[in-house]
Amino acid sequence: MKTYLFHGQIGAGKDTQVEMLLKKFDVERVSTGEMFRKMTEEGDQEAADLFNNKVKHGIWPSPEETFSLVKRWLKRFDSSKDWVLLSVARYAEQIPFLDEALKEYGRSLDKAVHFTIPEEVALDRLAGRQICPNCQATYHPKYKPEKVKGVCDLCGSKLEVRKDDTPEGVKMRFEQYSKSVQPWLDAYKQRGILIEIDATPSIEDIHNEVIKNLEFTNVR
Ligand SMILES: [Zn+2]
Repeated sequence: MKTYLFHGQIGAGKDTQVEMLLKKFDVERVSTGEMFRKMTEEGDQEAADLFNNKVKHGIWPSPEETFSLVKRWLKRFDSSKDWVLLSVARYAEQIPFLDEALKEYGRSLDKAVHFTIPEEVALDRLAGRQICPNCQATYHPKYKPEKVKGVCDLCGSKLEVRKDDTPEGVKMRFEQYSKSVQPWLDAYKQRGILIEIDATPSIEDIHNEVIKNLEFTNVR
């Protein structure tokens, strides 16, 4: 079984790419956003404290706090399947914590996949973007419209627009992201497992590039 980490600027379409993979391959999708929400819903006190005091207010918990939960969260995924981790390590400081958590499950990262886009592409894609608050699927009137207006195709929840999906908000997040991701890229490049994917072309083209670069064990 393979373990892949996907990461990229918001608007690079990494979530969409994972959804496309899930249609073709039987893989486990691991997301920390989902982890915080679900564990909080399930009444996990440690998760609830972090979610209500930090995550909800846009403050990211420390690697110690996050990966203490990740270690328990990983337990629920099928160890015989390939895993795709969605931005589970997003800063270089989190990489050793991710390595340690995976090791507990007898796994190690096979590839770190980074989806790269220029700023103007990010701006274009994020204007009008909608997100499902329940399953985190994203939609866009131009690039990926939902089937029923305002309703998530996957789970039927009402779609929302993020408050910081304004041009100024996107620009600021883009700059912060570029700065913070460089050490992450360097670390995985040094390890020889970095794959950089140009996320400017169409969703289909990017998808083909992804499957050309990665191997999956179970075809649906
Ligand atoms: Zn949904």
